[in-house]
Amino acid sequence: MNKLITLPMVLILLTAFFATDVLAQRGRGRGRRGNQQSGSIQSGSQGLGQGQNSRAGRGNQQSAGTAITDAERQSLIFMREEEKLARDVYLAMQEKWGERVFSNISQAETQHMAAIANLLNRYGIPDPVTDNTPGKFTEVRFQELYQQLVATGSNSITDAMKVGLKIEEMDIADLRAAIQGTNSQDIKRVFENLERGSRNHLRAFAKRLQAAGGEYVATNLSQTDFDQIANSQQERGGGARGRAGGPGRGRGKRGPGNSNR
Ligand code: MN
Ligand code: MN
Repeated sequence: MNKLITLPMVLILLTAFFATDVLAQRGRGRGRRGNQQSGSIQSGSQGLGQGQNSRAGRGNQQSAGTAITDAERQSLIFMREEEKLARDVYLAMQEKWGERVFSNISQAETQHMAAIANLLNRYGIPDPVTDNTPGKFTEVRFQELYQQLVATGSNSITDAMKVGLKIEEMDIADLRAAIQGTNSQDIKRVFENLERGSRNHLRAFAKRLQAAGGEYVATNLSQTDFDQIANSQQERGGGARGRAGGPGRGRGKRGPGNSNR
């Protein structure tokens, strides 16, 4: 008789414990909705790398010991290579045009890659970057994009700036979807930092394109969103360490004016 009563009770307690544990790890209880939205990141890359991604994920589910959804796992894998795409294209543009903006921003992309590698490592997810050589990608879509973007950006310096804008608006759109698709605070924080970096990069490229008299039509973001970012101030914090923009401006104003009088 005793056993008949306690067995269901044990099950209820276990269920309650498990639910609490999951909630604690997730931070918030909106997991399902997030899952679906994050799927939209992948929609542009239909089927590519999917098999590999889910295989990689399943093998590590237990060893990570931390709750992470398939959508989160896939967005980390995807963004890791998207940051590499940015780095590699800018390296090629730097070599072609010798413009400092490309070497500066490619360094930031190296940091973005490292931030995601850190999360992959934390969650026991195999790194899709198996070959760090510039221009080498696991995901076929990135391999193709790399070739297209480098070819386009090699036509003229104006085209190179447009390629930069293309990468940054794509990055922002994908990061926004990835942020919507996660409830993990650590993942969200990294993606938000990366998005802030991308907004700054977009501003840098937009400024140079404008100076060259070029115009850009947004494709991944709405034109309103794009213009709003392009025409707003550089942001500090995150990976940029406040280096971009800050010191230069003030010095120019103060220099000759004050000391000469
Ligand atoms: Mn980036
Ligand atoms: Mn960037």
